[in-house]
Amino acid sequence: MNIKRLFIANRGEIAVRIVKAAKKLGVHTIQGHSEADAEMLAVKLADESICIGPAPSKDSYLNISAIIAAAKATQADAIHPGYGFLSESPAFARAVEQAGLIFIGPSADTIEKMGDKVSARLAAVTAGVPVVPGSDGRIDDLDHAIEIAETIGYPVMIKAAAGGGGRGIRIANTRAELKELAPQAKSEAEAAFGDGGLYIERAIFAPRHIEVQILGDGETAIHCYERECSLQRRRQKVWEEAGAACLDDETCAALCASAVALAKSVSYRGAGTLEYLYDEKTKEFFFIEMNTRIQVEHPVTEMITGVDLVAEMIRVCGGERLSVSQDQINKSGHAIEVRICAEDPFANFMPWPGVVASLKEPEGEGVRFDHFLAEGYQIPPFYDSLLGKVIVHAATRDAAIDKLIVALDALSVGGTKTTAPLHRALAMDADVRAGAFHTQWLEQWLDAGNLTEKGDAA
Ligand code: ADP
Ligand code: ADP
Ligand code: MG
Repeated sequence: MNIKRLFIANRGEIAVRIVKAAKKLGVHTIQGHSEADAEMLAVKLADESICIGPAPSKDSYLNISAIIAAAKATQADAIHPGYGFLSESPAFARAVEQAGLIFIGPSADTIEKMGDKVSARLAAVTAGVPVVPGSDGRIDDLDHAIEIAETIGYPVMIKAAAGGGGRGIRIANTRAELKELAPQAKSEAEAAFGDGGLYIERAIFAPRHIEVQILGDGETAIHCYERECSLQRRRQKVWEEAGAACLDDETCAALCASAVALAKSVSYRGAGTLEYLYDEKTKEFFFIEMNTRIQVEHPVTEMITGVDLVAEMIRVCGGERLSVSQDQINKSGHAIEVRICAEDPFANFMPWPGVVASLKEPEGEGVRFDHFLAEGYQIPPFYDSLLGKVIVHAATRDAAIDKLIVALDALSVGGTKTTAPLHRALAMDADVRAGAFHTQWLEQWLDAGNLTEKGDAA
């Protein structure tokens, strides 16, 4: 493999995850960190560390020239971008390539094509993958938007071409709402992504969010089955599963085949995810976007397939072929991941970064806790609130939910509020147990007052 010294340009739990994967491969690790993150766990676990700038992301984890300078100064030969931050920036991937370093991900050209949701839709159509009916390209102005909305029919989703993290999305039920909301989506997208480009697609009623994990080495591409991420709040995933209990075998096979076709059509290299919406009534699935990076919820796939996705993406970007073929990938059992965030679920998910006064980790067979916590650690207030993820694996979905309840009872993070009580309440809910939910279900459940401190204690 061509990678001996790996620079990690990210933080939090994913930085820890990357350090561990690199160590397993015998690769030397160099952790880049902001001034606020000098004490974080990945810095302690990595072989070396170097400061890349002040606390604000724009000065550190989003500062392309500072990251490249630090990687060169530490003689790195590759950079792993993790998720979020610069992981889907074609400019960053290009700058890494131009500096003579390896970017752990697809080429800058592929990120450009698949990271923009409008051009990814076109690539999907070309590869024969169904997309949500909508505009062929970006919408130029309000009249154009109205014309398209009236062809596909209301309600429509107004979406940012450069979107991510659930931002830049609005739903319009009428022409009047479209007129009001399109400018809002545009300014949100401009502020968040520096690109106000919008497109429109039909709003699917109460869909399920299903996605397919793919791996490619530039010559061939395979899938590692599907995940379901329908439990969302503000269009961000909260609870994720592998596989998707709502799919029959035939639909699942067609979905995974479509993802491989699309990955092959762009000679994909690295780990990637194709996201779809699934209409349970008609059994139709529609591609919505591709994430050209490792995802937060990748561990559930690792649990059911035994494939180390992070190690695999480092290997293929280091010039190796995939270490597994499609027929060697089998799914076994069911896995669930819940996101533990430093937020108060009883106070409208207010961020609650504190000092970790005490820490008790869940453990046991089929239990994984990916995190970056340690006793005495001050959670910095500058970044995403994700502290870690509890992941469980069992023979059946029912057994996985039972195991999740035990794992959540064993987890204790003193000194800060976390979203763990929300997950415990969800694990106890009858609809969740039955798998009877869709992408709007969790918000409706919260609005109906189902989460109470009393209920949680029961
Ligand atoms: P994934 O696509 O891997 O499931 P998400 O969709 O939750 O993950 O988030 C995508 C990326 O956006 C993640 O890398 C995450 O760090 C980042 N992100 C999520 N929520 C926010 C937020 N509120 N603000 C900034 N970045 C966020
Ligand atoms: P992001 O890049 O922010 O992750 P996505 O395009 O993946 O944006 O959409 C995020 C979520 O928004 C989906 O999981 C789904 O819940 C909802 N959503 C997106 N497009 C549609 C649609 N056309 N109809 C209904 N819901 C949608
Ligand atoms: Mg998405």
